[in-house]
Amino acid sequence: MDRPPRTPADPNPAHDAPGVIHTTRLAPSPTGALHLGNARTFVVNWALARQRGWKIVLRIEDLDTPRVKPGAIAETIDLLTWLGLDWDQGPTIQSDDLTPYTQAMRSLASRGLAYPCELTRTQIEQAASAPNEGDTETPFPRSLRPPVQAQDFEDTGTNWRLAVEQGRVAFTDALAGPQSLDPAREIGDFVIWTKRRCPAYQLAVVVDDDAQGVTQIVRGDDLLPSAARQLVLSRALNLAPEPTYTHLPLVRGSDGRRLAKRHGDTRLTHYRDRGVTPQRVLGLLASWSGVCEKPEPMTARAFLDAFSLDTMPRTDVTFTPENDAWLLA
Ligand code: GLU
Repeated sequence: MDRPPRTPADPNPAHDAPGVIHTTRLAPSPTGALHLGNARTFVVNWALARQRGWKIVLRIEDLDTPRVKPGAIAETIDLLTWLGLDWDQGPTIQSDDLTPYTQAMRSLASRGLAYPCELTRTQIEQAASAPNEGDTETPFPRSLRPPVQAQDFEDTGTNWRLAVEQGRVAFTDALAGPQSLDPAREIGDFVIWTKRRCPAYQLAVVVDDDAQGVTQIVRGDDLLPSAARQLVLSRALNLAPEPTYTHLPLVRGSDGRRLAKRHGDTRLTHYRDRGVTPQRVLGLLASWSGVCEKPEPMTARAFLDAFSLDTMPRTDVTFTPENDAWLLA
């Protein structure tokens, strides 16, 4: 596919330094649940990258997720290809090599920035002063942090946490605008290595984004609070340049909740198995992305040509029974 020159829409001037290749990643978790909401994020990420000449890395995030079933990685890749997406590097599979994550842990532990923690969730919840509501994680109370010293990192089947100091983390999201978050208050010392003997999502993402030269992160805005945590971690590891974030509003069900099983089967495989074409799926995704008012079948190329971040909805969109009926018509 021919690559037009990128537009200067990146708020991070460090990305304009000589030798920096603007790079993004498609980072699916192969949980077998690639649904219409995930697909919309991937298609927008891909279209932005192809419009702006970013390199695209495909990275399979198979650590720190529910058990990955055999065939799930191949199926995820197959679905992205079915939609008409392509990439320039990968797939890389996180579980293939844990060395970079272990090295990052050694670096943090040896500088007294990370510590092992055996406390259970119940113990943490009991110690937290405010009850936790909803599905967000209980912030880790500062009072539970032991004296942290420089130490060797050992993967002995316990969680390790990052010692998070107070302070606001400010950054400009390319879609959501200026952000200022305080991870110490919102989450406290968060887990970066898990007792399942693998890196936690936050660590894996930060290490991989740096190793793969990722300058552009495009994903759902449920991960906006994670961006601040990832910046804290990236600073603790002295990684640079920091990426630019573009967090996209989500697709929700008619009840306003994040798209999930309760809204019926919205997995791409469900529609593909019923003979729905990728053009029809893309048409629905296009109507959710400011490309057209009503769903109309289109190719990935047509989506790319018509998409603009300027007309992307700034609020969540709703998956309706009519959408489902349109796909299956
Ligand atoms: N693998 C994550 C997901 O599928 C995406 C993580 C990220 O983009 O940082 O939700």
